[in-house]
Amino acid sequence: MSRRKTLVLATHNIHKQTEMKFILSRLGVTVIGLDQFPEIKSIEETGTTLIENALIKARTVHELTGLPSLADDTGLEVDALNGAPGVYSARFAGEDATFEDNVNKMLIALKGIPFDKRRARFRTVLAFVDSDSELSEDGVIEGRILNKARGKDGFGYDPIFQPKSYDITFAEMTSEEKNRISHRARALDKMKKILKTYFEKGEFIE
Ligand code: IMP
Repeated sequence: MSRRKTLVLATHNIHKQTEMKFILSRLGVTVIGLDQFPEIKSIEETGTTLIENALIKARTVHELTGLPSLADDTGLEVDALNGAPGVYSARFAGEDATFEDNVNKMLIALKGIPFDKRRARFRTVLAFVDSDSELSEDGVIEGRILNKARGKDGFGYDPIFQPKSYDITFAEMTSEEKNRISHRARALDKMKKILKTYFEKGEFIE
């Protein structure tokens, strides 16, 4: 059975779209973003876990477009904050918080905490939804939260996140470097292997 080889990324976040398109570039499938569907506005993330939110986004976009859809939900888990903000990372500094607001709130929340107690990790959960299949994968990267922002690239918490075994932040890396090691890349690498078979051979997945 042959399938329509178009995949819609269920995100309005242009940074996420760019990273996901780069990592999925050799999948042999046309990867498009929600900018192709201006009628689809922001999708409310009402879940209390990353997987719930990823499924809400992927199912909604699949229903509205009729196309296979892939959604990402990501959280930053900070040990000194008992795993917060996690699933609430986008709203850490309030409903309409900007990336900068969230970074500033994190720097204040961890003020005075020494480097070795600033362990954190990014966790991405991906959900893929098509008419006959639903699948999820995750990816994690360990690191630390610095005490001041460094670097201009990336997005979100990138300027204060230094991955383990590195002495630079995600925002100081080239996009190629971040996309080789990130939480999102790890989840997408796993997902990509399954989607390759799915789109090439038309096999069902669950
Ligand atoms: P969501 O997955 O869009 O809900 O993202 C949750 C929060 O984590 C948002 O504030 C994002 O900006 C942030 N975030 C997601 N992915 C990354 C990343 O790769 N680096 C830095 N921050 C991220």
